[in-house]
Amino acid sequence: MLPEFFDSVLQLIVRTSTDLPPDVRAAMRTALGSEAPGTRASQALTIIAENIDLAVDTEGAICQDTGMPTFEVKVPVGANQIWMRQQIKEAVAEATRRGKLRPNSVDSITGKNSGDNLGPGTPIIHFDQWDRDVVEIKLILKGGGCENTNAQYSVPVELPHLGRADRTLEGVRKCILHAVWQAQGKGCAPGAVGVCIGGDRTSGYTHAKEQLFRSLDDVNTDSRLAELEASIMSTVNDLEIGTMGFGGKVTLIGCKISALNRLPASFFVSVAYDCWAFRRLGVELNASTGAIEKWLYRDPAHPIIPMLDQAGFARTGREVSLRAPLTEEQVRSLKVGDVVLVSGPMYTGRDAVHSYLMKHEPPVDMRGSVLYHCGPVVVKEEGKDGDKWRVTAAGPTTSIREEPYQGEIIKRYGVRAVIGKGGMGAKTLAALKEHGAVYLNAIGGAAQFYARSIKGVDDVSLLEFGTPEAMWHLRVEDFPAIVTMDAHGNSLHKDIEQESGQHLETIGVSA
Ligand code: SF4
Repeated sequence: MLPEFFDSVLQLIVRTSTDLPPDVRAAMRTALGSEAPGTRASQALTIIAENIDLAVDTEGAICQDTGMPTFEVKVPVGANQIWMRQQIKEAVAEATRRGKLRPNSVDSITGKNSGDNLGPGTPIIHFDQWDRDVVEIKLILKGGGCENTNAQYSVPVELPHLGRADRTLEGVRKCILHAVWQAQGKGCAPGAVGVCIGGDRTSGYTHAKEQLFRSLDDVNTDSRLAELEASIMSTVNDLEIGTMGFGGKVTLIGCKISALNRLPASFFVSVAYDCWAFRRLGVELNASTGAIEKWLYRDPAHPIIPMLDQAGFARTGREVSLRAPLTEEQVRSLKVGDVVLVSGPMYTGRDAVHSYLMKHEPPVDMRGSVLYHCGPVVVKEEGKDGDKWRVTAAGPTTSIREEPYQGEIIKRYGVRAVIGKGGMGAKTLAALKEHGAVYLNAIGGAAQFYARSIKGVDDVSLLEFGTPEAMWHLRVEDFPAIVTMDAHGNSLHKDIEQESGQHLETIGVSA
C-alpha cells in the first residue's frame, strides 16, 4: 500500500479548507479594487479579505460551513480503489476531529449528525482510471448556502424579466443570468458558476459542478462556449447585486460552461453556484508512496500574497454600538444601512432550533435577545477548571430557511435582533415591524473574522442536535453587521432584488 497516502489526503483537506487558491484570491482582490471605499460592498469585501488572511495565518476554516467534501480521483490502472476510498474517509474523519472540517453529515431520516462527516453519500468520491503513473486527487468544499442556490432549467422556459429561453446558446445565456439573479446574496456573492448544457438531470448537475474545477483564469477550448462565458462575464456584473447582495459592481467572479449530449426530448441547463469561499485544490501523488509530488492550482514555492496590505475592517465612527439585551426603543431607532457593533450575549439557532422553538419553550429567556443564524465549528479543550468549548469558525448561515418560523419566534419570545445572511422574506419583515425587531446581515463566510468577536462560550443547549445545530450561548464584543431589514418595513434585500430585476431586463435584450 501507499504509506504516505493518508497524510497527503489530510494535507489536501486542511489546505483546501483554510487557504483559497491563487486564482480565487486574485479575483477577490480585483473585486475589492472595483468597489468604491466606504460603500457597503467595499466594507463587506474588506471583512472577507481579512477573513481570508486570518484563515491562512491560523490554519482555520475559511468558512464554518466546510461543505460537502467532493473528491475527484484519477488512478493508474491496477490501483486499489477500495483501499484508497477507505483512506480518504479516514482522512476526512481526522480533519473533522481536528476542527478543519465541520461535522456536516446528517441522517436525512432522523436528523442525527454522524459527527465525523461520514455516512451514506458523504464524502462524495469519484474514481477514474487514466494512463499516467500518478494519482491525482482534486477536492472541492462547497457549502450548503451556495448549494441551495443551484438551479436547473428545462428549456424552453419562460423566465421572469427575461422572457422565453429557447434551445439555443442565447437561451442558455438567459438561464445563467436568471440563476445568478435568483441567487441574489444568498449564496454569498460574489460567486462563480459552473454550467452544463444538456445531459440528463443527474449528469447535468454533476457536470456543472465539475466545471468548478477549472481555473477562473482559463479559456474554454470550445470557442463557442468561450464566447458565451465572456459574454456572461462582461454583462452579469451590471445586475449590481454585489457582495452579499448589498448592491455593488461585482456579482460574479467566474463562469465556466461545458456541454453534454442529451436526449432529443430534453434540454437541461444546470447551474452550480459556488460562493466567494471557493475552496478547491488538488494534488498529484507518487503512485508507489502516496507522497505529494505536485500541488494543483497553487505553487508552494510562491509565497502567499496577503489580501490586505493595510488594516482590515476600519471603523468610520458612524457605527452604532448595541449591547444585548436590547430594548424596543433601541431597535426602532435603527434604519436600513446602519452599521452596528453588537456586544453581550448572543444565541445561535439554525433549522433544528427554530423547529424546536415552534413546539417548546426556549431553554433561555430570549426577551431582548440577539439570535444568530450560525452553525459554528466548536472544539472542546481541556483546561485546568475542566473542559471548555472554543469557537474556531462562526460566520452566518443563510437565513431564508427560517422564514416559515422566524416571525412567530420573534413574537412569542421577544427576540429583538436576528443576525444571518441573505435576508428574509415578507413574513419576517412584517413581524420586525409589528413587534419591534431588526434583521442584521453579517458577512457570509467570514468565519475567522467573526470567531474573533466571540469572547467566550457561556453554555450550550440542545447539543443533541449536533454541533452546528445546537443553541450556543456566546459572549461577543463589537460584532459588526449591517441593518438590512429594519422595524419600519424597509428591506435592502427587497430593494436590490427589484432593482437587479430591472437591470436583468436590460441585459436580457441587449445581447
Ligand atoms: S461562504 Fe457562504 S455560501 Fe459559502 S460555504 Fe460559507 S456560508 Fe455557505
